[in-house]
Amino acid sequence: MLQDRSPFVRLFGRYLREQGLPVTNQREVIASMIFSSDDHLSVDDIDRELSSSGEKIGKATIYRTLDLLVKSKLAASHDFGEGFKRYEHRLSREPIHQHLICLNCGQVLEFQSPDLSRIEDYISSQHGFKPARHKLEIYGLCKKCLGSGIDLKPEGLACPIEDI
Ligand SMILES: [Zn+2]
Ligand SMILES: [Zn+2]
Repeated sequence: MLQDRSPFVRLFGRYLREQGLPVTNQREVIASMIFSSDDHLSVDDIDRELSSSGEKIGKATIYRTLDLLVKSKLAASHDFGEGFKRYEHRLSREPIHQHLICLNCGQVLEFQSPDLSRIEDYISSQHGFKPARHKLEIYGLCKKCLGSGIDLKPEGLACPIEDI
């Protein structure tokens, strides 16, 4: 059961008003979709879900609204190298979390590790560096894809000798 996310939609409305932008129903619908999902949604995901719930909102509006959500700091965007961005809300989830990205189905999982913070501090201090944040993305295959017998495609340079 998802908790009521309408206070966050109101927060977004307040941000829009502060920026002198109109609080439209379309913007609120998109915002509440982001706030009520714990997935990392692409514009296509949102577009599909809007269509299936009978909403007619153009992609340009979706892009623009997501952009505003990111600017308002209520959502974050990620580029996992898929050729498009994914969006997640930043409410009631750990501000610092890392991602596991399935190369086959695109599923994105989150994790946290205090060990990573220790490594960040250790490596930074070795370089006389003051760390602000870090980001770790692990690419591979999720449990479901692995279970269905899919294997990782080889990455990187192939042995040039084999091609001769
Ligand atoms: Zn997968
Ligand atoms: Zn995330």
